[in-house]
Amino acid sequence: MKAGIRDFILAGGVVMAVLAAVCGCSADNAPRLTGAEKDIIDAAGIMRVLTVDDRKDSLVLRSECIDFPMKALRSERFGRLADRMIATVTDSTQDGVGIAGPQVGLKRRVVAVQRFDKAGEPFEVYPNIRVEYLSDEKQTGPEGCLSIPEIYGEVERSQTVVISYVDIRTLDTVRDTVSGFTAVIFQHETDHLDGILFTDRM
Ligand SMILES: [Zn+2]
Repeated sequence: MKAGIRDFILAGGVVMAVLAAVCGCSADNAPRLTGAEKDIIDAAGIMRVLTVDDRKDSLVLRSECIDFPMKALRSERFGRLADRMIATVTDSTQDGVGIAGPQVGLKRRVVAVQRFDKAGEPFEVYPNIRVEYLSDEKQTGPEGCLSIPEIYGEVERSQTVVISYVDIRTLDTVRDTVSGFTAVIFQHETDHLDGILFTDRM
């Protein structure tokens, strides 16, 4: 998701609660990484960001993503992917606040999100992420997308979400409750994993 208008939303006040709970559900039947996926992850420099302007890229951006197998999450390669996704979204050519797997050519459930609700506003990476709850209370705000150059629009999103994902350090499935602008970013980025773009919601 593109930066720029974040202050507008942050000014509205961000309340956030974190709830981490061990789930214990780690069905590990996700397909192994392909050679092509490994090549994307292992390449040097920042990652190429796919855009809707390119026909082939569009097909990837419209794909349903799959989980990473636990073995891949334990590997050094996943750490490399996390580092490169953050380097890409924070690069001055992008200046984003979030990025998702298909945007870097991987049809896998992973997002990098800037946590405006945490001290220092760090970028964090969330594999095998899902949205488990969307609040009925909504907020409307402007959005943009690294994959849709020059387009901005108003989107209605839930004020609060509950996400589940695999914690890279413990490999446990954990849940977080997130509110405010950071919750908007999570909704925008997890939409990408289901092939949904913000322009679909305008
Ligand atoms: Zn986007």
